[in-house]
Amino acid sequence: MRYIELRSDTFTKPTPAMRKAMADAEVGDDQYGEDPTVNRLEKRASEIVGKEAGVYVPSGMMGNLCGVLSQTQRGDEVVLGDLAHIVQNEMGACFVVGGVVPRLVPNRDGFPSLDDLASAVRPQGMFPRTSLVCLENSHNNCGGAVITAEQTKSIVDFAHVRGMRVHLDGARIFNAAAALGVEAKALVRDVDTVQFCFSKGLAAPVGSILCGDGETVAKARRVRKMLGGAMRQAGVIAAAALVGLEEMRDRLVEDHRNAQRFAQGLAEIPGVRIDPRRAVTNIVSFEIDPAVMDAGAFQKACAEKRLRVSRYLGNSPRLRAVTHLDVTRDDIDAALEIARAVLIGAPAAVTAGR
Ligand SMILES: *Cc1c(COP(=O)(O)O)cnc(C)c1O
Repeated sequence: MRYIELRSDTFTKPTPAMRKAMADAEVGDDQYGEDPTVNRLEKRASEIVGKEAGVYVPSGMMGNLCGVLSQTQRGDEVVLGDLAHIVQNEMGACFVVGGVVPRLVPNRDGFPSLDDLASAVRPQGMFPRTSLVCLENSHNNCGGAVITAEQTKSIVDFAHVRGMRVHLDGARIFNAAAALGVEAKALVRDVDTVQFCFSKGLAAPVGSILCGDGETVAKARRVRKMLGGAMRQAGVIAAAALVGLEEMRDRLVEDHRNAQRFAQGLAEIPGVRIDPRRAVTNIVSFEIDPAVMDAGAFQKACAEKRLRVSRYLGNSPRLRAVTHLDVTRDDIDAALEIARAVLIGAPAAVTAGR
């Protein structure tokens, strides 16, 4: 008996092709720039997103740290949506380690308004310098919402005119691209730096990359070293990331179809609050009506029936389900049966088989 694991797409296990690539990987000392597999990954990844250079990092969080710290000075203000992963889920690392100050604007599903941004930017003079805007696409804490290339460009234009740079937390940029039916390249064309994860929908075991212009990435490489993130024979893990990059991007639409199926199924269960139209990527965000059941109790009851979902921030009635390579359409149907059984107390006929 296995679990239907919908807590996150980070739960994917490396595929046989990845394990083979890892075993066969040509390696060297990456801190000396001599790991051929890491070098290949950095070249290929930056090519795919249309940037000059890239630096492989152990986690998405370190990708964001490298992006933020390489483009700011201590005491600068960084403008972020209030639900940004950098703000909510990263231990305040950029602020604690980087000494930059968060300047929060209303998140608006990942597309902050230009008016909000304008009032967040400080006038010149005896104020902190506002040097960076961070965006997120797709948006984790906004149910996987996406922003278009045009929306991104409007914010980048706003920032560049004011001498500010833009970092994109694109942990799931290929999900955003698949949802919008465009190349990831188009979504990141205008931003200065982008971070994306190999360890989520791309199903690789470890790592992310920060891509941007050569000069910024060279600075980011120094930041990575300072953070203790410069690795040695990292080709062993980069090899799997390369497989993910080449083999997994085209199948993300399948995860999106499963997420949509799950969202529509949930909408039919009394006690669930959801607008299935908002599930555009692989993240399904939904609420349990507190009058029917406490969200924590729902989560626990589902887990007892071998369905795992995660809970959003704090005590909220909001839950999250994320589809990925290791979740099939049959799993989705079984997951819906479990959710229904938990909520309406119907006999739980179906559990996660196999
Ligand atoms: C997962 C995620 C990260 C961090 O990635 P880790 O590898 O877990 O450090 C950053 N930003 C967003 C939007 C994410 O979803």
